[in-house]
Amino acid sequence: MNYYNLKDKKELVNFKEAAVKGQGKDKGLFFPETIPQFEENFIQNINQFSDEEISYQCMKDFIGDEIPEKTARKIAAETISFDIPLKKINDKIYILELFHGPTLAFKDIGARFMSRTLSYFLKNENRKVTVLAATSGDTGGAVANGFLNAPGINVVILYPKNRVSAVQEKQLTALGGNIAALEVDGSFDDCQNLVKLAFSDEELNSKVFLTSANSINAARWLPQQIYYLLALKQWQKLEKENPVICVPSGNFGNICAGLLAHFRGLPAAHFIAACNTNDFFPNYIKTQKAEPKETTSTLSNAMDVGNPSNFVRMLELFHHQFDDLQKKVSAYTINDEKTVKTITEVYEKYNYILDPHGAVAFASLEEYLKEKPDKKGFFLGTAHPVKFPETVEKAIHSTIEIPESLDELMSAEKKTTEINPDFEELKRFLLNQII
Ligand SMILES: *Cc1c(COP(=O)(O)O)cnc(C)c1O
Repeated sequence: MNYYNLKDKKELVNFKEAAVKGQGKDKGLFFPETIPQFEENFIQNINQFSDEEISYQCMKDFIGDEIPEKTARKIAAETISFDIPLKKINDKIYILELFHGPTLAFKDIGARFMSRTLSYFLKNENRKVTVLAATSGDTGGAVANGFLNAPGINVVILYPKNRVSAVQEKQLTALGGNIAALEVDGSFDDCQNLVKLAFSDEELNSKVFLTSANSINAARWLPQQIYYLLALKQWQKLEKENPVICVPSGNFGNICAGLLAHFRGLPAAHFIAACNTNDFFPNYIKTQKAEPKETTSTLSNAMDVGNPSNFVRMLELFHHQFDDLQKKVSAYTINDEKTVKTITEVYEKYNYILDPHGAVAFASLEEYLKEKPDKKGFFLGTAHPVKFPETVEKAIHSTIEIPESLDELMSAEKKTTEINPDFEELKRFLLNQII
């Protein structure tokens, strides 16, 4: 499969280049040249396929012959080697729990696929690659965990000092090995800025091979289709009508992966982008105007994005036909007050504990289903509530149980290097790493 740069369609790369480079010229995102269709038999009889087979079938056309089948199957299986259950919350609403992986967030899935893919592509090369990422919380942990001990790869993660939760910080800083955590005395925007400067610094890039690990990278974006198929497998046993699929959205990688799977043949009645008060996309759906905004901080912090980078993939998926997009995708804005109220209500009524991101999704889906009473749907549970104990415990007036794996993590030692939000400090650190 070839991938073209959305900023310059003449730039064509294969899967390896798309995965290793992360992005094309002018920071353009890569997009698959064709949308491979699922076989009808596969979709209709999906409950007869094992999860590992589904994962492989989902990815094989994007990989082509660039990874031998045996290895590709192993990568596909390891990508989803934990539970991804679809659970009923009430008569109309189900949750796909994507948070049973090592860092208790759905980003584990994309990160695991990407790390294994990159390791395969780089194993016979003598260049060492540095994966550089800024995190406001969840990305860093999932990336660090996915790449831990990956041969030929160093990981450097920048996070804002005192602005990630205690669990998130430990997930970044307790691993050691090939994972370096830089504690930046500044904001998430400062971290992101430093990363951008690093990618555009010629001298640095001539000495260190840098790549990104966010959903801009096709190798992290594409495997996110897998769990929509795993949801379908479970949905078909429970319900007859096609589901409305609701996705808590920030950078829009997740929902774009769902839409891609849909265009390949995954049945879905409708898609919903659930947003917090960072309402770039809800605004676009209303006005057809794409107006990037300053990011505002909310309780669902992994969705605090004012200018979603995967929006261009959304437009491409719909061939820039606004009417088609508007027919298939709705969007809602849920503020913090409603988020907390939803956590409280869902706990009291259905005895289910939502995290803030899940609450934004639940509230959005509920609003949509009020308008379409004959429909049912599921939303993606993207993070475990235990990652947001302050918000959740206050909302449910009760404490939440800490999983054993977290206890162990919390007692591990934190290892970081503190830097100022100063590019020269980052550059020196990156140059020292390769010596
Ligand atoms: C990253 C993240 C999101 C948003 O996903 P996008 O693909 O960026 O839209 C939602 N919830 C949680 C918990 C996340 O970590």
